[in-house]
Amino acid sequence: MTDAAQDTGPDPELTARIETLAAGRASGLRIRDGVLSLVLDVAGLDAAAREELAARIEAAAKGAPGVKDVRIAMTAERAARPAIIAVGSGKGGVGKSTLAVNLAVALARLGKRVGMVDADIYGPSLPRLLASEDTKPQAQGNRLVPVPNGAGVPMLSIGHLVKPGQAIAWRGPMAGNALAQLIEADWRDTDLLIVDLPPGTGDVQLTMIQRFKPAGAVIVSTPQDLALIDAARAISFFDQTGVPVIGMVENMAGYVCPHCGEVSDPFGSGGAEARAGELGLPFLGRVPLDIAIRTASDAGAPPAARDDVIGKPFRAIARQVADWFDRSRAGAPLG
Ligand code: ADP
Repeated sequence: MTDAAQDTGPDPELTARIETLAAGRASGLRIRDGVLSLVLDVAGLDAAAREELAARIEAAAKGAPGVKDVRIAMTAERAARPAIIAVGSGKGGVGKSTLAVNLAVALARLGKRVGMVDADIYGPSLPRLLASEDTKPQAQGNRLVPVPNGAGVPMLSIGHLVKPGQAIAWRGPMAGNALAQLIEADWRDTDLLIVDLPPGTGDVQLTMIQRFKPAGAVIVSTPQDLALIDAARAISFFDQTGVPVIGMVENMAGYVCPHCGEVSDPFGSGGAEARAGELGLPFLGRVPLDIAIRTASDAGAPPAARDDVIGKPFRAIARQVADWFDRSRAGAPLG
């Protein structure tokens, strides 16, 4: 028997636990003769944070079935792939893509090296939202090179790979292979990929999560009951798959009249915040229903790139996500 034949991966539950703790930093998980080994990318962590993260992983692994000892190799090399934050929603049309693109733009403005992947097979919209519809990605070797744009957020979309409407009938594995081309592209020094997921909780989303292990997820909902029921389903889906939910965003909350500026609540207000509270999740903020958001988005000029009031809610949400990301990278409790 060869050495490789004696190696096994840890069971899925332990793998998920370690990957949640490591937030995208663990790779090469193997068990041989009861010894669990893994590589931990500690780039950007100081000595205390490195030790603490390693100790937390060791504590989680020791005593798990089949694990007698744990060996962690630390490397300060950049992880082969950027960490992923998925943006999901229980249903379509709630503004998930709008939030995803503005979150990415605002995170880039906060100094993060951000890229975007448009995984929404039902309606890839990021090329339009980032004004790059006419640019096709090039390939270098066998990897795609993301499309640059004025917002400073290089991007790849499922719409770059297939004609509109063609991907709708895909099952999980087909979508998984297409997504692999986008996620394993030549992202260079990108730290963080914002992935705009398809709405809902089907097998495409499941394949994406199992294969690419997002570090966290943001859930977008409108304030209505119906949308919130769907959002709760999405949250429980991420919980069950071991992806930490960073928090919930309420979109289209309060209509700002373009004539008089008066705010009314066509879909109610505060529903998502209340639901987040019930579920013990952070509430990341509220984005009003404002025609200026739609017109700027349709024109490929994400509001978060602006300093005015329209971009403000997106920038505030991004600050919280950036804090979460920094804490998760430092191995601190995410609470
Ligand atoms: P999803 O990705 O959930 O299907 P989109 O982001 O594509 O939703 O948004 C659906 C439509 O609603 C788009 O035309 C978008 O410009 C518009 N939209 C999204 N959020 C807002 C908002 N807060 N105010 C006004 N229009 C919005």
